[in-house]
Amino acid sequence: MAILLLGSNINPFTNIKKAISEIEKLSGVSITAKSSLYETEPVGFKPQPMFINCCLEVSTLLSPKELLYQTQGIEEAMGRTRKIKWGPRVIDIDILLYGEEVISDKDLTIPHPELHHRLFALIPLAEIAPNILHPILKVSIKELISRKF
Ligand code: ADP
Ligand code: MG
Repeated sequence: MAILLLGSNINPFTNIKKAISEIEKLSGVSITAKSSLYETEPVGFKPQPMFINCCLEVSTLLSPKELLYQTQGIEEAMGRTRKIKWGPRVIDIDILLYGEEVISDKDLTIPHPELHHRLFALIPLAEIAPNILHPILKVSIKELISRKF
């Protein structure tokens, strides 16, 4: 089981739906749960449109690296460019969790290093998996949210 976080603030409803359908088409990946779509404030660089975020739970035969590679392929095919850090984006697909694995490679950190700081990730995640434990912090997603208030 892995958890993906999708985000977009350029035609976000269209692009989130498109990304979900591309993820469904990946071989060795099946979507087992999907959160609602959440409207969230931009973080880091404010003067830009609101984001839509959505969390997916997937069951996958792909390794974490292969999953990253495949989801980056979808980002690229959908026209993602990386100009402004934290700037407007057609689609961002982040791997929040991959089972209980802890990975810190040059190009892949799991759990996602910002997961526990970001309500825009925690809230959609709590809708589909409130009781799973953060593999490093060893507390539930629900508990991480309550610590933010
Ligand atoms: P961000 O998601 O931080 O806005 P990008 O989507 O451009 O920025 O990703 C930058 C890099 O983050 C990617 O090239 C990827 O190698 C790396 N990365 C590290 N950990 C993860 C992860 N858990 N999920 C997705 N990308 C990751
Ligand atoms: Mg990303």
